[in-house]
Amino acid sequence: MPPTERLYYHDSFLYSFDASVLECAERGGRPAVLLDRTAFYPTSGGQVHDTGTLVLESEQEVPVVEVAEEDDGRIWHFVSSPAPSGQKVRGRVDASRRRDHMQQHSGQHVLSAAFIHLFDFPTASFHMGAESCTIDLAINDLTAKSLDVKQIIQAERLANEIITEDRWVKISFVSLDEAQRLGVRKLPPKQTGDLRLIDIADFDLTACGGTHVRSTGQIGSILVRKTENVKQGVRVEFVCGLRAVSTARQDYATLTETAALLSTHIRELPQQVGKVIQEAKGAGKVQHKLLEEIAELRAVEMLAKATGTPRVIVSVFPERDAVFIKLLAQKLTAAAADVVALLASGAGQAAMVFAQSPGQKHNMGQLMKDTMAKLNGRGGGTADMAQGGLPAGAVDLAQIEKLLKEIAAGL
Ligand SMILES: [Zn+2]
Repeated sequence: MPPTERLYYHDSFLYSFDASVLECAERGGRPAVLLDRTAFYPTSGGQVHDTGTLVLESEQEVPVVEVAEEDDGRIWHFVSSPAPSGQKVRGRVDASRRRDHMQQHSGQHVLSAAFIHLFDFPTASFHMGAESCTIDLAINDLTAKSLDVKQIIQAERLANEIITEDRWVKISFVSLDEAQRLGVRKLPPKQTGDLRLIDIADFDLTACGGTHVRSTGQIGSILVRKTENVKQGVRVEFVCGLRAVSTARQDYATLTETAALLSTHIRELPQQVGKVIQEAKGAGKVQHKLLEEIAELRAVEMLAKATGTPRVIVSVFPERDAVFIKLLAQKLTAAAADVVALLASGAGQAAMVFAQSPGQKHNMGQLMKDTMAKLNGRGGGTADMAQGGLPAGAVDLAQIEKLLKEIAAGL
């Protein structure tokens, strides 16, 4: 079977074409159609596939949901229902999806070239996602280079200048020798026959099989987003064209919503959020101080009532959390030399704290481990102080209190 004639190679703006169905087969459990010629772009070279429809002779419209290429150059169109072999069909490519892909892919060529022109950072790979795109720049410890925010802004600026200059973008087919003589930026890993070159006037020349704009103005704009260090270098996330506008729109909406919560202007957000964080930290400290004072008072009160030798104190606090009962246990055992405290809390994740005054003979860590094993919880600690957490949900504090009293009776 000969390779599929790729109509998009010569015209990226061809959205409608006539073709014949050579074969319709099940591929991976899905019906797929082989045409003699196609304007549908198959996933390759970092660019994702087109979608659209095939209109059959009966006028029935069959959606094309995915397009993939074989090593031998055949292109399979995955369809929602089979189309009989020998049929003449009209293919219709989803134009807005194609235009978006052209903006992202041509934008990538411009951005990659900008990183070369400014800093000699080559692009190792390109990925087009549903929301954003990335390039991996080959920068690492071995190249003794790095990428900073200033450089990113410079590259973004240069790329957008090339867009506003509306430079022409041309497709040509040349031999490998000719391509090397012309000084092509990037060659494909495998070369068979002539190379397809994408030429951006006096700025970039790359071998590429993708669909591209006619002139850089059609890219619209490039917005660089985050960067992150990856194994092969630095990953740069970006969006082009209408995606850049919708991304900026979304960012603005998020900022506006956040600013409204703080009754401030979006430009004041970093200072305002910083202030809120500082205030929260301050309030946390005050709260902890108050909690310590309450624990101190409760300890005095409980010790006054406690009897026995040693004084074993059992108490359950449904409204308090683990932090409080730990504080209380510390206060109780520090205030007197003859105290054993068995405490539980119900707020947040239910918890237990077992503690004894230093010098008492029990092993609180072991006691906690044994108790948690019975309750499917986890915990442990030292001989004098141990803590355990009970599994979320289905904690009956009355049962816990009963259990603590049993433990106390056995000491
Ligand atoms: Zn490309």
